[in-house]
Amino acid sequence: MLTGLKSLVRKATSLFASLKAQTYPIIIPRSEHSLSRQDLSPNAVKVLYRLNKAGFDAYLVGGCVRDHLIGIEPKDFDVVTNATPEEVHSTFSNSRLIGRRFKLVHVTFGREIIEVSTFRANSAQDDSNDENAQNTSLKGKDSARSAHGIVLRDNVYGNIEEDAERRDFTFNALYYNVQDFSIHDYCGGLKDIENKQIRIIGDARQRYQEDPVRMLRAIRFAGKLGFELEAETAAPIKEMAHLLDHIPPARLFEEVLKLLGSGNGIETFALLRQYGLFRYLFPDTDALLQSGWKRNDIDPEAFILQGLKNTDDRIQSGKTTAPYFLYAVLLWPSVSLRHEEFQAQGMPATPALHQAANMVLDNQVASTAIPRRFSTPMREIWDMQYRLPKRYGKRAFLLLEHPRFRAAFDFLLIRELSGTELDGLGDWWENFQHGTENQQRDLIKSIDSFSKDKEGPKKRRPRRRRKSNGNTSETAKPQSETFDE
Ligand code: ATP
Ligand code: MG
Repeated sequence: MLTGLKSLVRKATSLFASLKAQTYPIIIPRSEHSLSRQDLSPNAVKVLYRLNKAGFDAYLVGGCVRDHLIGIEPKDFDVVTNATPEEVHSTFSNSRLIGRRFKLVHVTFGREIIEVSTFRANSAQDDSNDENAQNTSLKGKDSARSAHGIVLRDNVYGNIEEDAERRDFTFNALYYNVQDFSIHDYCGGLKDIENKQIRIIGDARQRYQEDPVRMLRAIRFAGKLGFELEAETAAPIKEMAHLLDHIPPARLFEEVLKLLGSGNGIETFALLRQYGLFRYLFPDTDALLQSGWKRNDIDPEAFILQGLKNTDDRIQSGKTTAPYFLYAVLLWPSVSLRHEEFQAQGMPATPALHQAANMVLDNQVASTAIPRRFSTPMREIWDMQYRLPKRYGKRAFLLLEHPRFRAAFDFLLIRELSGTELDGLGDWWENFQHGTENQQRDLIKSIDSFSKDKEGPKKRRPRRRRKSNGNTSETAKPQSETFDE
């Protein structure tokens, strides 16, 4: 695919070689690019045709064009048009208007959503810091900025050239026209794809100031595509990373899931740290990693990398992942540290764990929100780490029934794989889950003899050295099956 692209860029470039300055857009006809209508979502094509029929211009833009040209499956299809959101909404009965900061329309076809936005102009120069900016545009001027220059609302409509300029990276400003199947390149995105470069459109500082999330997006594309950040795009990031503190935690929560939960978590995590962005997403975890804190039963860095690998592997093999699991991984080292601290202050183990979880979650939500539907299962996963070793009597059967068992078990395997020595606990639970009733009873018996001393209710008895239960295995732990939100 990239070879095809190379020749396409060469042709396009030679087409304009006679011109002194590069003239945009470069229009690549159907015969000279690899994106065919068959590659597209039929629903996206329907939306394009319907808008055209209603007299509007409409193009595919963004990730779907970019990813197709690179040769990867696009995640979703974004349409852009000169129709206002209200006009789009009235063209499609299966649509709804969404967003305030950035108004757009979702057209739904069963489970597929086609996002339709209106051409926008960059409002950077004319109305900064002015909540009361006059509404002068015929199409409804509506923009606002915060005291930090961050765009709070971006609903100033414009034409396609203006729309291209206000997009984030050159490869995201490629427009596919379904009427003649051509691609319109407004900012040199094709050349940057050929050179595997991520290049911000316009002045990097100004563009990050307007929307600091663009720094995260740059890193996300670097992790996902394996592209390099072009020098001027990369240069201001470290220094401007602190602007992320002014982004609403709910938006950052969504970005974190896209960054670390999309199949390239390992690379992206490294890049986020390299560019000094991770600390604005996970301040406690970052401080702990920086401090080099370790304990016999946890190596934070190894554990997080193992957790990200687990998520990446699952996604690559088409399995689902749960946001709460990823967050539980990223915060577990801090929970472990606080747990130890509270116990050192004399608090019993269980209340100390709950207190640690509260503290870590309270700190984290100042950076990235964590909806309660995620924080509850996170607490359960953490709690289960201390319950899974206690398997005597009927407990193992009860734990197996717990709605969070699968996730907690996966979490336990990640701990083991990252070097935490748990006396073959992962293997024991693996065998227990898949054993017959008799085998399960035998497994419980095999631990009962010592567990009553070690884990059971008669805690006052002096501890004896643990005997081998014969269940440990040197083999790699099998991965558990899919769990869902
Ligand atoms: P993905 O594969 O993750 O969907 P994408 O590039 O399509 O990647 P979206 O978030 O779907 O990302 O955004 C669609 C398009 O909107 C982008 O390609 C880009 O042109 C534009 N865009 C999105 N976010 C921003 C932003 N913060 N600033 C400028 N342009 C943006
Ligand atoms: Mg997209």
